[in-house]
Amino acid sequence: MDNSLDILEIKGQRLNLLVADFYICRYCKIVDRDDKRGLVGHPCSNCGKPSPDGMWYFPVQIHSLINLMQEQYHLQPPTNTQKRYILEAEEVPTHQIAVIILFCTLWEVLIDHFLVNLMSALKLPEGVAERLLADHKYRDGRIGKLFPSLTGDKWADIMAELTSQSELDFIETEKFYLRVRDARNEFLHKGNSWAIAAQMPEQCLRNLWPSINLSFSYIITMSQKYVVKIPHRTPNSHIRWNAPLRCSSFTPSR
Ligand SMILES: [Zn+2]
Repeated sequence: MDNSLDILEIKGQRLNLLVADFYICRYCKIVDRDDKRGLVGHPCSNCGKPSPDGMWYFPVQIHSLINLMQEQYHLQPPTNTQKRYILEAEEVPTHQIAVIILFCTLWEVLIDHFLVNLMSALKLPEGVAERLLADHKYRDGRIGKLFPSLTGDKWADIMAELTSQSELDFIETEKFYLRVRDARNEFLHKGNSWAIAAQMPEQCLRNLWPSINLSFSYIITMSQKYVVKIPHRTPNSHIRWNAPLRCSSFTPSR
């Protein structure tokens, strides 16, 4: 039975539930979905040290950005009396333009967060990670130069490998992000709201789950290769990982 869920129908629950069951070990930095990490004393499956608490892998900024995207998308447009002030050429409802900006910020934060955790797991000397990020300020430098210098791998090669193992098409998700980024820049730097296609805010919401999965897949893959060096065992989770969003975690509301 296909129980896939349309993310646009989730209105009565916060969307940060999507990232609320990814955990990281404070000691060995392994990332997984072992929700027993919340139990004090629970041993880490990798290093064996007892858990002091359940530490979310995704920081609170990412939770907030996801919830803000959801709120902005579902905001009601202006009332009828105000509608006459809206330009006919304005295809994207004004409040949904914020979804575009938030989606780009989310991607930037996800990439930064991934690289910071990768460098932490690689045990770079103190201060080196900050200097490397300062030397590579923008996304293209961070994934085009910094990532290969840390791992010896090309970002695109890992992307292709991850897509081949997933039900989600990460290559298309990244291409979509680059289109959104261009549109966001046209709007922010030139005020050109027509650069934002009418369907783009909706597509940002639909690409949220693949974007989160992509970020998680990268850290898992890199942890396997360079930190843990063991095949990853996907832990039990109420949200199935690496697959389209399904109804088990959320109740659609209309
Ligand atoms: Zn550990």
